[in-house]
Amino acid sequence: MRRRLLWEQERGSRALVLSIRRTFVLVVLLAIGMCLYDEVAYRRACRLRQSAGDLPPVVNFFRRCATGGPSGCSVSMKVVIASGKGGTGKTTVATSLAFLAAQDGLRVAYVDCDVEEPNGHLFLQPVIEDEWPIEKPVPHIDPRRCTHCGRCGEVCRFGAIISLPQNTVVFPELCHACGGCQLACPSQAITELGRRIGTIRAGYTGAMRFLGGVLQIGEPMSPPVIRALKNVTPEADLVFLDAPPGTSCPVVETLRGANLALLVTELTPFGLYDLHLAVHLVKTLNIPAAIMINRVVKEQDSFSEWRQRLERLQLPVWCELTESRAVAEAYSRGEVIAQSVPDFADQLRPVVQRLKASINEGTCGH
Ligand code: SF4
Ligand code: SF4
Repeated sequence: MRRRLLWEQERGSRALVLSIRRTFVLVVLLAIGMCLYDEVAYRRACRLRQSAGDLPPVVNFFRRCATGGPSGCSVSMKVVIASGKGGTGKTTVATSLAFLAAQDGLRVAYVDCDVEEPNGHLFLQPVIEDEWPIEKPVPHIDPRRCTHCGRCGEVCRFGAIISLPQNTVVFPELCHACGGCQLACPSQAITELGRRIGTIRAGYTGAMRFLGGVLQIGEPMSPPVIRALKNVTPEADLVFLDAPPGTSCPVVETLRGANLALLVTELTPFGLYDLHLAVHLVKTLNIPAAIMINRVVKEQDSFSEWRQRLERLQLPVWCELTESRAVAEAYSRGEVIAQSVPDFADQLRPVVQRLKASINEGTCGH
């Protein structure tokens, strides 16, 4: 009887150990499956092939967890680096923030939305893995069907199509590819043909994803390329979108859907005037924003006056980057400034910490 009891006890504990082992194996398999799915979705999104330089997905997943970096289940944050005026240091700030965030263990994507004059690649030196053309559909007229009724010309708000007594002419550069004329044509004389307007390049700089677009020479409209660029932006904890200068359509397109705008300015009359326009734009689009002042010389007589003017804009100032010869030299050598100039990196690190905290809290700059 006693032997039988002992035997049953032993059998019970064996079954318990076996079920713990099975549960453990199941949990491990589930975790591996999750991180593989996460990685595959990530790669598919940015249309990148497996790169030899990357860590294996499982290591990536646990590394993100270990560093406290948000994993695929947390909120991802799109940060636009913009400014009204050109030459204030948007790319310097964007590339440096991306570099520091990646160094901090976050999954980072840098997207150069200045497709008319991209220069982020000069600093980040990405390895380009994939490149593909961007086309927009433009109307093509079938002369056998066209009755020259003029309806398409009436519908088009951009003057991209006109109907003459003998001919119907399309101006593809002006076309916004809205498809209105095709819908309005009573004779079904309009079909659409693809017209190449730009190119997208994707690659990586270390563990950081890189995406950049180039507008085709002679093409006047960059928003469709920026839109295409944003559509293929990979999932990441932090996506830095380097905006073009100004406050016109390309900047609006870059800002659309952003969680936060960091407005880089300099304390000059032009800098502040254009910043004013940029602030008005982000407020209209209802995007949270913060100001980053570049090339600060605190000894300058007018410094406190400019600073007071900034305060009237009622936006927080997240960072004051001091004017430095070392920064100018590193810039002229085409280096990522935060990598080459430790002082500059130290001034930017609190911004990265703020962004990281926003992701972890799920507030995304709000
Ligand atoms: S609406 Fe159609 S039929 Fe009329 S002019 Fe335009 S293309 Fe020709
Ligand atoms: S697609 Fe739109 S923008 Fe282009 S020609 Fe037709 S109506 Fe005009």
